[in-house]
Amino acid sequence: MIPSVLPTYNRAPLSFESGEGSWLVATDGTRYLDLGAGIAVNALGHAHPALVAALTAQANRIWHLSNLYHIPEQEALADALVEKTFADTVFFTNSGTEACELAVKMARKYWYDKGQPDRVNIVTFSGAFHGRSSAAIAAVGSEKMTKGFGPLLPGFIHLPFGAHGSVLQNAIDDTVAAILVEPVQGEGGIRPLPDACLKGLRDLCDETGALLIYDEVQCGMGRTGKLFAHEWSGAAPDIMMIAKGIGGGFPLGAVLATEAAAAGMTVGTHGSTYGGNPLACAVGKAVLDIVAEPAFLDEVNRKAGLFRQRLEGLVASHPDIFEEVRGAGLMLGLKCRAANTDLVQAGYAQHLLTVPAADNVVRLLPALTITDDEIAEAVTRLDAAATAVAAKEARA
Ligand SMILES: *Cc1c(COP(=O)(O)O)cnc(C)c1O
Repeated sequence: MIPSVLPTYNRAPLSFESGEGSWLVATDGTRYLDLGAGIAVNALGHAHPALVAALTAQANRIWHLSNLYHIPEQEALADALVEKTFADTVFFTNSGTEACELAVKMARKYWYDKGQPDRVNIVTFSGAFHGRSSAAIAAVGSEKMTKGFGPLLPGFIHLPFGAHGSVLQNAIDDTVAAILVEPVQGEGGIRPLPDACLKGLRDLCDETGALLIYDEVQCGMGRTGKLFAHEWSGAAPDIMMIAKGIGGGFPLGAVLATEAAAAGMTVGTHGSTYGGNPLACAVGKAVLDIVAEPAFLDEVNRKAGLFRQRLEGLVASHPDIFEEVRGAGLMLGLKCRAANTDLVQAGYAQHLLTVPAADNVVRLLPALTITDDEIAEAVTRLDAAATAVAAKEARA
């Protein structure tokens, strides 16, 4: 019999009833060290006092207002995002997927209004992940995500990850509306795009007029030690999708854009009932106020350096289990020689939560508030998990 919850997820036999900072408490009282943070969502950990305060204060005032009216909490968060980024304007969504939908629509409408209605193609890269809607799965185009789901939304050109030189240049013709790329691939296995590549994409877009869209749903909001990952390269986008960390656990996403890129999105062209809901925006503003502080980002960078150094040591002491550490800031991946899923499982036995990714990688996406002691504890538990996997392999 089908479960009451549609069985589309491969769930671990774990359930939690409370959390605090980097820790989750299971229903049997066991404390787990959480290096997944809801897949880079709980940027400030669980039950951060400032977020609880922002949510409850807003809950006592007003929960929902239609976008038929002005929503001050939305305007405050949009103003702050505009002030701190390349963007001139922001549209709020409920998720990363919904942000992807708008990013694609915005790029196509831009060219339509410029009198080039055939300029609809969006260039994407293998290993990318942009969500699960019809547009987002067509954007990626992998068999794993698209098989069985009927005719796909047309207008995507798929290039290999790391495509450059003539392969890339030849793909950007006068049918291309935009290039869509994650500055650091998340689901694809924590694969950062080198700064030189982002700069190269920016130059190519400047030459051809194509819009540059970044998907910073996973790598944004302080995760890499800058507010947004592309800031390391200095190559700004025209359009950017964000979600995950911005809500700190409350569902919130957004599309940020320059005034020029957003020119086609006039009254009546797009909307969302819940998008920019006062509860979500009040929490998002509280998250941004903390994460955007230079001193907070300095701490993320310091802790990222410490974590990475410890992980290099872990890899060196388990050369049969791990191949390398990769990533940026506190968006870290352990490329494995053993099966990544075995390590995630062995982590559960050590009361440690990690997340598998493609390319046989174990993802470490801790709360940005993780402490030095928790980093040390995480490496101790990873070491024990690696030892357990090695023992299991020796028995097999
Ligand atoms: C998670 C993710 C998405 C989709 O976000 P949802 O909120 O799950 O819809 C899109 N892009 C990237 C890079 C992501 O990591």
